[in-house]
Amino acid sequence: MASEAGRNGQAADAARTATATAAADGLPAHVDVAIVGGGFAGVGMAIALLRDGRDDFVVLERDDDVGGTWHQNTYPGCQCDVPSNLYSFSFAPNPEWSQTFALQPEIGAYLKRVADDFGVRPHVRTRTDVHDAAWDEQAQRWRIETSRGALTARVLVAGMGALSEPSIPSIPGAETFAGPAFHTACWDRSVDLAGKRVAVIGTGASAVQVVPRIQPHVARVDVFQRTPPWIMPHPGRPTRPRERALFRALPLVQKLVRGAVYWGRECYVLPFRFHRLSRLPQRMALRHLERQVADPLLRERLTPRYEIGCKRILMSDDYFPALQQPNAELVVDAIERIAPGGVVTRDGVEHPADVLVWGTGFRVTDMPYVEWLRGRDGRTLGEVWREHGMQALRGTTVAGFPNLFMLVGPNTGLGHNSIFFIESQLAYAIDALRSLDARGAVAIDARREAQAAFNAALQRRMRGTVWTKGGCASWYLDAHGRNTTLWPGTSWSFRRATRRFDPAEHELLMPRQAAAPALAGVC
Ligand SMILES: Cc1cc2nc3c(=O)[nH]c(=O)nc-3n(C[C@H](O)[C@H](O)[C@H](O)COP(=O)(O)OP(=O)(O)OC[C@H]3O[C@@H](n4cnc5c(N)ncnc54)[C@H](O)[C@@H]3O)c2cc1C
Repeated sequence: MASEAGRNGQAADAARTATATAAADGLPAHVDVAIVGGGFAGVGMAIALLRDGRDDFVVLERDDDVGGTWHQNTYPGCQCDVPSNLYSFSFAPNPEWSQTFALQPEIGAYLKRVADDFGVRPHVRTRTDVHDAAWDEQAQRWRIETSRGALTARVLVAGMGALSEPSIPSIPGAETFAGPAFHTACWDRSVDLAGKRVAVIGTGASAVQVVPRIQPHVARVDVFQRTPPWIMPHPGRPTRPRERALFRALPLVQKLVRGAVYWGRECYVLPFRFHRLSRLPQRMALRHLERQVADPLLRERLTPRYEIGCKRILMSDDYFPALQQPNAELVVDAIERIAPGGVVTRDGVEHPADVLVWGTGFRVTDMPYVEWLRGRDGRTLGEVWREHGMQALRGTTVAGFPNLFMLVGPNTGLGHNSIFFIESQLAYAIDALRSLDARGAVAIDARREAQAAFNAALQRRMRGTVWTKGGCASWYLDAHGRNTTLWPGTSWSFRRATRRFDPAEHELLMPRQAAAPALAGVC
């Protein structure tokens, strides 16, 4: 369960939320930059703008506070799977992490603190759901509709997150379930699980974290598995007071540790790119399973039949032990339907449940925002991507959508390292804005041929990787089996790809000349 530091963080969060909500007054009619989303990406972009001397912007966040993933995912056990020294902004190190892999409350509190410390708060408009954004070619600006009114912006930054839209499979009868039912990303804390029978559907990253936390408290937990994940031993531990004192006194040491962790994790990409190298991590994961699960039948059921890395690799020391407790069962028969009193599997067995937890992940390749983002020709991003596939130039700009900067856009995810390559994208976007200013241009639009060439090269590098050849269906792949979510190399190579904004790859739109006024007095 959440640590003391985490609970203190939550109290501080509540106080900040109140201040933030009070401060969130009306929307400006026009801003230079509108950022949608107040997660790491949106807050990071806001800081990048402020550091570049730009303060004409807003952060539009539909939730009641900033934090994104780490504000919304409050399920028991929610924790990052990248060491916290690396899973944080490079310019805002935190010597106080209580664990080497921090729990959600601490990460959420960190991001909120960073938003405060860097002066982002006054720009944030919470409870502001953006539901339409269209590029107005005539006015050369974005027209944005939100739940709190409309505004225009020269630049639109999409920081809506790749894992922010919970996905719930359509299973017959789901709506008939009589008890509480919720997704891990929308954990209902008002529901007391003590003594209840809980059905957890799915065995992805969130489910693997939540099951060991709830198992000791519930009457029974049934875990419904479609595909077993590869699970490695968890290297996390509480940080030592001496360690924290050292980082506090000598920030350079923490920086060096961060660097070491970063470069160490860069090597993890090798087994993903070169099949043969995956044997070693696969052996490690199998040994972990063998050590923790003695029953050959259960072990068999928990052994993945695809290559390690094809889906996100998980880490846990307590998931397998939790599954072997007398009040837990791993159910591998496919679900046929949900009944008011439980989950019915294809073998006809009804597994009684009082509470249903969807641990079924997120909509990654069919995000709802693509249906309301309209470009120069009036088509939505969804329409364009259905024709050409989900793609962007350097994961950031999209042809036909001027001055749109996508953070954590297509093919920018990493299977092996921290999301904080995001900082490369922030620097790239700032470089683009400077480039616009220097040329007196009002907007940039990615050239189609540059975008096509970039993506063709990217998909060539994707061939033969474990994500496309590893024998699994994962959320990395779109409906055509193309990996449109991950970057196919090291995060350093992404950094290099976005090191400088190249104006030649973009069309520059110059300010429209105002129509010449009619000359008065001339007949
Ligand atoms: C449970 C969980 C654990 C994770 N662990 C890790 C990890 O260990 N390491 C790692 O690298 N990554 C991890 N991730 C991925 C994680 O999402 C990213 O690391 C990172 O937090 C993404 O930041 P973001 O700002 O891009 O998106 P988010 O944090 O998702 O923020 C997006 C924000 O946009 C808002 N928004 C969306 N649509 C709209 C709209 N229409 N109008 C207004 N606001 C909108 C959302 O409310 C949200 O606040 C994890 C994800 C989850 C769900």
